[in-house]
Amino acid sequence: MKEVVERLRREVQGPVAEGVPTGRYTTVGIGGPADIFVEATCRDDVAAVCRIAFETGTPMRVLGAGSNVLISDRGVRGIVLHLGRRFRDIRFDGTRVFAEAGATLPRLAKQAAERGLSGIEFGGGIPGTVGGAVVMNAGAHGADISQIVREVYVVGRTGETERYDAAEMQFSYRRSRLSGVYDSVVVGAVFELTPHNPDEIRRRMREFALRRRQTQPLGLASSGSVFKNPPGDYAGRLIEAAGLKGLREGQAMVSEVHGNFIVNLGGATSDDVLRLIDRVRQQVESRFGVRLQLEVELIGM
Ligand SMILES: Cc1cc2nc3c(=O)[nH]c(=O)nc-3n(C[C@H](O)[C@H](O)[C@H](O)COP(=O)(O)OP(=O)(O)OC[C@H]3O[C@@H](n4cnc5c(N)ncnc54)[C@H](O)[C@@H]3O)c2cc1C
Repeated sequence: MKEVVERLRREVQGPVAEGVPTGRYTTVGIGGPADIFVEATCRDDVAAVCRIAFETGTPMRVLGAGSNVLISDRGVRGIVLHLGRRFRDIRFDGTRVFAEAGATLPRLAKQAAERGLSGIEFGGGIPGTVGGAVVMNAGAHGADISQIVREVYVVGRTGETERYDAAEMQFSYRRSRLSGVYDSVVVGAVFELTPHNPDEIRRRMREFALRRRQTQPLGLASSGSVFKNPPGDYAGRLIEAAGLKGLREGQAMVSEVHGNFIVNLGGATSDDVLRLIDRVRQQVESRFGVRLQLEVELIGM
């Protein structure tokens, strides 16, 4: 591990640290130490980390805003590559916009609105990065990333950048060809937006924000939707109908506002959340015969 750290420090411009607690890089505030934590500042950093991880056989996980993950308190072995504040350029060119993977969707949505460009309003309240949103095909209010993305730039284990067009990304509900593929890193994406009245765009974004405040526990730490919606139904509806809102394990609780959110009341452990996930799954299955699938990514378990 020491040699891997030394090589990373030689070849990567961004900070490389050992034993960094990951909870502070997640929205739910849970996560033990990463053996090696690297903050990428540019595409070359990502390429170097991918190459070194591959050549040394070191496992690697990528973290964006950490808004859709649950990381074990026992930590993450190998390298956690973080793409955030230092890797978040956004460049507009007419109706096209290129965003680096660490740019957040709310920032992208705000900048697009200021330029009278429509299509990304749905991202105004999704607290993830462009990288995470592309991998997860994030969406809301009837729209998703697949509808506006045109090109995705991905760095693989050799450190080379590949370009995929939207069709090649194989988008489906909260999935893409990169879901569950841990040695490929989205470094940026190009989106095609549509000119529209800026006041109307802002009005739509305010309406979406209001709807979120009314239906989601935004004041409490969470990882967003825990389960995918089963075909033709909503995970939140099933959880509420099973009477599980407010169910607790330690400091983790099924939100009283939205059944598909698990909130950290302060000091929840990853085991608290996992136990709660199991109980919710079992009870929904025994009541309705529906096996809920996780939307949240488990890391280090
Ligand atoms: C309050 C709240 C509301 C939310 N509302 C929505 C919503 O309406 N719709 C929705 O779809 N989601 C929602 N989410 C979930 C989350 O914001 C999205 O899934 C978001 O796209 C995840 O991006 P991230 O950068 O946080 O990814 P992370 O949580 O950091 O990572 C998620 C997965 O993507 C991988 N990943 C991240 N970045 C990269 C990259 N650059 N290259 C390769 N892999 C990468 C990670 O390894 C992990 O497997 C919500 C979350 C919260 C907390």
